[in-house]
Amino acid sequence: MAAIYFHIPFCKRLCGYCDFYRSVKLKYIPQVVEAMHAELGAQCGFLRDKQISTIYFGGGTPSLLAPSEIERLVERVKGLFDCSQLEEVTIEVNPDDITAEYVAELRKTSVNRISMGVQSLDEGCLNFMGRRHSAEQALCAVEMLQGAGYNNISVDVIFGIEGFGSEVLQNTLQGVLAMNVQHISAYHLTIEENTRFGRMFARGELQETEEERSDAEFLQVHNSLVRAGFEHYEVSNYALKGFRSKHNSSYWRNVEYLGIGPGAHSYNGEVRRWCDQPIEEYIGGVEYGSEELTARDRLNEYVMTSLRCVEGLSLDRVEREFGTEERQKIEQEAAQKGVAEMLINDNGNLRIPPEKMLLSDMVITALIDV
Ligand code: SF4
Repeated sequence: MAAIYFHIPFCKRLCGYCDFYRSVKLKYIPQVVEAMHAELGAQCGFLRDKQISTIYFGGGTPSLLAPSEIERLVERVKGLFDCSQLEEVTIEVNPDDITAEYVAELRKTSVNRISMGVQSLDEGCLNFMGRRHSAEQALCAVEMLQGAGYNNISVDVIFGIEGFGSEVLQNTLQGVLAMNVQHISAYHLTIEENTRFGRMFARGELQETEEERSDAEFLQVHNSLVRAGFEHYEVSNYALKGFRSKHNSSYWRNVEYLGIGPGAHSYNGEVRRWCDQPIEEYIGGVEYGSEELTARDRLNEYVMTSLRCVEGLSLDRVEREFGTEERQKIEQEAAQKGVAEMLINDNGNLRIPPEKMLLSDMVITALIDV
């Protein structure tokens, strides 16, 4: 099985924290969509006849595309690949793009899962982040989608924002839980260099959250969501039973995927490939950067993705796919002081307990390239 990812690299306005590949040059939308059709047709061999189980429209802001344009891309996928086992078609949406008309049109498409960037339900915090919607718009958007029959909705929340304490976060968590959505992604704010927040940080106008407070807020999120019946299945992801993101889970399970659009990455088990062209160049013809993956790369990838997930890293699998020596090296490193305190060894499955998940990068760094 394999996955298709469409990167829709357009936003009406840039949020202060975001360093995704995106542009505000909306006039290029029609040309980029046509170039995506061309890229899809030219690149379908990359997945070597694999069946497609999930399609994901990410960005940027895919909800800037009319639902009919989304469906035209899905139909193209169906024409090029075996989609008889297609389970999930997700679109990321911004709350202020959601109108009754948009939802009615979207219901006519193959989209069966919605991922909405809510981020906060505090007006001050939304303004600070440069979001272009209000809390009320987010609540209404979810209601409209549910009213139209969507019952697989995910919302994103950001925590760890300096200046907005645990009370603001708790109100957001309560509001989001009251939305009755099936999936919640919760991300700690990171200050990236080439963003408005990065520039504020460089000028001393914005601080990073202290580690102690980051940990406390992570636990606040974790405990609130788990108490409400959500399963914590990946560092940043929580789902009600049966509602894990199939598409994102496939990345973490090393499933192959084809990424289409400027800013998209692809992976077919042997090669990792990406397109980082500016939009104006992409519409003239796509070009890729690429790297062939060595066994070491693949092992590092497995360590990174498995330790971010609740199932953890299987030492048997490491031995089966990469050899006994690699298993022994990981076992030795995992027993080292510092790392051992962060890991649970569950009958040969190494797992990071939820309360340590925020520090998963430290454990992963210790275990890769050993
Ligand atoms: S967070 Fe989303 S809406 Fe904001 S700039 Fe990034 S991609 Fe665009």
